[in-house]
Amino acid sequence: MPATLIRGKPIADRIRATVAEEVTELGHVGLVTVLVGDDPASEVYIRLKHKAATEAGFDAQDVRLPGDTSEADLLARVEELNADDAVDGVLVQLPLPKQIDEARILRAIAPLKDVDGLHPFNAGQLFLGRPTLVGATPLGVMAMLHEHQIELDGARAVVLGRSDIVGKPMAQLLMQANATVTICHSHTKDLPRHTLDADVLIAAVGVPALVTADMVKAGSVVIDVGINRTEAGLVGDVDPGAEDVAAYFTPVPGGVGPMTIACLLQNAVRAARFRRGELAFPG
Ligand code: NDP
Repeated sequence: MPATLIRGKPIADRIRATVAEEVTELGHVGLVTVLVGDDPASEVYIRLKHKAATEAGFDAQDVRLPGDTSEADLLARVEELNADDAVDGVLVQLPLPKQIDEARILRAIAPLKDVDGLHPFNAGQLFLGRPTLVGATPLGVMAMLHEHQIELDGARAVVLGRSDIVGKPMAQLLMQANATVTICHSHTKDLPRHTLDADVLIAAVGVPALVTADMVKAGSVVIDVGINRTEAGLVGDVDPGAEDVAAYFTPVPGGVGPMTIACLLQNAVRAARFRRGELAFPG
């Protein structure tokens, strides 16, 4: 029997509607996205984020800087946004051009405006079990699992990928939901040995169809975070054939993608509430 599809759009639409109500209630939420250079994929992401923010009633600012912007100039821009009381959330789109040290920029963003959850403070809070601002993609995956009442307590969860933006925070959230988590990466030996053991498999590697049907446990939940541009169009990290083996499966496109944008907006509202003292600060 083919898997139940977990579509992101209906869940994301609901989150975005709630966010829009919250923005109205708050009166003003400022979200600034910063894009340095003209990487085409980043351009698409920024456009989608900006459009969604505007539709939800945010005061959304779309800052574009030339590809040869210096690190000092970008740092100065971030400092300005940190100091601007009308700005609740700051997102610097990655990757940054080579002349700029990404870690340095991410450290410079005010932790309570860091809607991508990449500042060491937010990463540390998550590590310590006190999620404060957590990356939108792993939050989106958790919301999808919650929506379909997937049991995580005691489940074996396997995360493919260990990036700061997806894999690591994903593993933390699953562990905090009492799953037993294995993290796999490019040095992992015998990947199928791990994936076949997964009640919940999260693929976030960026390799088209890395996970084939014979690597998936029957009746499991497969979440495909991958977005890969190929000649055949956008494809995930999981071969669609896995749909015949899994019990739940996310399509690409239309799966995790819409959730990332919705949860980013949710993060901006959360950031606004922290700064206004309306939301208790974890720990
Ligand atoms: P990164 O390139 O930062 O990380 C990829 C990870 O996958 C690394 O940890 C890498 O291991 C691991 N990896 C690479 N090849 C293999 C392999 N053959 N076997 C096992 N592990 C492997 O990517 P991101 O985390 O940023 O993104 C991952 C995917 O998710 C991409 O397709 C991206 O486009 C997509 N994405 C989708 C989003 C959405 O909204 N749906 C949001 C963000 C990302 P190592 O650490 O050893 O190098």
